[in-house]
Amino acid sequence: MLALQKLRPGPGVELLQVAPPRSPPPGEVLIKVHMAGICGTDLHIAQWTPGYESMKEAMPVTLGHEFAGVIEEVGADVPGALVGKRVTVRPSTTCGVCEACGIGDEDGCTRRKGIGIGRNGAFAGYVCAPAGNCHILPDTLQLDVAALTEPMTVCLEAVQTAEVRAGQRVLVLGPGFIGQGIAILARARGAGVVIAGWDDAPRLDLLRSLDFDHLLDGKDGTQDVALRKLGPFDAIIEAAGVPALVSATLPYLRKRGIFTVVGIHPHPAEIDLTRLVRMHQQIRGSYRANPSDWAKTIAFLDTHQDVMRRLISHRFPLTGALEGLEVSRRRLASKVILQIGEPS
Ligand SMILES: [Zn+2]
Ligand SMILES: [Zn+2]
Repeated sequence: MLALQKLRPGPGVELLQVAPPRSPPPGEVLIKVHMAGICGTDLHIAQWTPGYESMKEAMPVTLGHEFAGVIEEVGADVPGALVGKRVTVRPSTTCGVCEACGIGDEDGCTRRKGIGIGRNGAFAGYVCAPAGNCHILPDTLQLDVAALTEPMTVCLEAVQTAEVRAGQRVLVLGPGFIGQGIAILARARGAGVVIAGWDDAPRLDLLRSLDFDHLLDGKDGTQDVALRKLGPFDAIIEAAGVPALVSATLPYLRKRGIFTVVGIHPHPAEIDLTRLVRMHQQIRGSYRANPSDWAKTIAFLDTHQDVMRRLISHRFPLTGALEGLEVSRRRLASKVILQIGEPS
C-alpha cells in the first residue's frame, strides 16, 4: 500500500509503497482509512523542527493522526461486532502497565505513543489502533468532517480552559484551523468573538463567509486601534505560536481576565508580570483534551456539519500528499484533507 512516511531524522518525508499491516494484534483493530487531515504537527515533523527527536525509535513510521475510517478486522479480545463500524481514533495510545496507567491517568502514561508519530499512522490505506481508542461515529456524521475530531478536541479544551461563557468578549489570536475552531465553539457558547490574524487574508475571508464580522488583519497596521475599540476582552485565546503576541495583546485583557495559550512557541515570551499581578489576570496553557471530551466533540461536529465542512479548504488523494503538505505550509489552507478511501 502507499504510505507517507518519515524514514530518518532530518528534513523530508516520502511517499512510498510499504507492506500493509497484518492482522491486528490482541486488543487492536485494523481500520481502512477513508479521510485523514494534515496538521501543523505533520509540517513540523516533515521540516524536522526541534521537539520530535523521540520519533527516531519508530522510524520508518507512517504519519497521520487525524482520521476517520471503517474497522475491517479485529484482534483477539476485541468484539467481532466492531467490524464494519465507522470510527475516528484518539491518537494517544497508552502502555496499560505503568504506574499512571494503573490509576487510570491516561495522560500521565510514561510510555505513551502517538499514532502517526511514535507508531504507524493514517496517511496510508490501513492503520492499526487499540480498540479502546476508537470512537464509533453517528450514522449521520460523514467521514470527512469526522476526521476533524482530533483538532476540534484541542479547540474544545482551549475554550473550556478559557472558561468561555455567553455574553463574554473573546479575542482569538491566529486564524489557522485551531483558531477558527475555537472561534466557532466560542460563538456557539454565546460569546462575541474577535479574530486577529497577520497577513492572513484567505483564512480571515473564510471566517467572514461564516458570518464572523470582527476580523482584524495586522498587516494593515490598524489592529491596535481596533483592539482598543473592541476590548477589553474577558478572554484571549492564543493560537498563533508567536511569543511577541502575548505581550502585545495582554493590555487588551480585562481585569481578572484569562489569557489561554494553545500555540507551540519557538522561544520564550516576555511578559510584564507586575501588570499581570495588579490586573489580577491569569495565564493558562491548554493542550490535549480529556478522552471524555471526544464524545462531546463528535456530537458537535454531527450537529454543525455544514459549517465544519467549510473549514476543509483543500482535498487531495494520498498520491497528492506532498502537495497537500506544501499547501498547508503556505498559510492559505484551513484544513487539508487526504481522501484515501472513497468518500462516504
Ligand atoms: Zn494534529
Ligand atoms: Zn502507561
